[in-house]
Amino acid sequence: MKTGFIGLGRMGSGMAARLCHAGHEVTVFNRSAEKAVPLAAIGAKVAKRIAEVSDCEALFTMLADDAAAEQVVFGKGGVLESLPQGAIHVSCSTISVEFSARLSAAHREAGQGYVSLPVFGRPDAAASGRLYLVAGGKQDQVEKIRPLLEVLGQKTFHVADSPESANLVKLSGNFLIASVIESLGEAFALVEKGGVDRKMYLELLTSSLFDLPVYKNYGRMIAERQFDPAGFAARLGRKDIRLLLGAAEDLKVPLPFAGILRDRFLELAAQGGDDRDWSAIGGLAARDAALDS
Ligand code: NAP
Repeated sequence: MKTGFIGLGRMGSGMAARLCHAGHEVTVFNRSAEKAVPLAAIGAKVAKRIAEVSDCEALFTMLADDAAAEQVVFGKGGVLESLPQGAIHVSCSTISVEFSARLSAAHREAGQGYVSLPVFGRPDAAASGRLYLVAGGKQDQVEKIRPLLEVLGQKTFHVADSPESANLVKLSGNFLIASVIESLGEAFALVEKGGVDRKMYLELLTSSLFDLPVYKNYGRMIAERQFDPAGFAARLGRKDIRLLLGAAEDLKVPLPFAGILRDRFLELAAQGGDDRDWSAIGGLAARDAALDS
């Protein structure tokens, strides 16, 4: 399928590479042009403008946030002006529920398709096709891009016909992950200050009741106090909690824990930690307890 890909950051570069390796005709575009070089080496065509990358049947975007997506889609010479009628914009970025609904309406009006496809999994999962894909959109549009989804993810969940429902689900998932990171950080600080070895505690947890990837992966990072380099930057995690709270406010759903997480990410940002991995909030409890790193 003739495919375009905009946004070759930590996630997008691996996803675009998967599509190339699977033999799809892929054109890529990134604001900072140098990130397209490794993709050109594996057969991608590199576009100089958004109009060029949009000349396709399915256009993926994997951008930082609402502001980036707004510029790329609604800007002059952007996706909305350039995508052919009937082609589908597949938005993988973690963006707000509200902005996703706006994208949906704008594409519908322009005669273009729109599937919201936020993902679960970090850059290693993106590069190896092991993402979990959360699709929101019309069934026929999701089916049309299914061969591409099979290359990108180990499983696709089609959650609703309304694209923005997928964004709500994605934000709720990141809320759960961030809650696990924070609570693991607190539990590790407690037992360590009481004299228990961090690595032995990790082994105990993840070989018993907490034998799950989210505890294993983030537990290891916390036990090793290894939060750099970032696989998922804390500034983006902070953005996700902000978007979660926005959605919760719109739906009038109190989320008390989310307020605590917002403050934890703010604390990390205030200490200059925005570019660390988002799991670095799991190191704050140890610092609060005056433990050595
Ligand atoms: P990243 O490495 O920071 O990449 C961000 C991408 O957005 C880059 O291609 C960047 O272009 C582009 N961008 C930013 N502002 C832009 C603008 N104003 N105009 C045009 N392009 C712009 O981020 P990432 O980790 O790949 O994450 C991408 C999205 O996936 C985010 O929404 C994130 O929340 C979500 N996500 C991330 C992970 C993860 O583990 N990393 C997992 C699931 C979901 P430049 O290269 O020019 O800066």
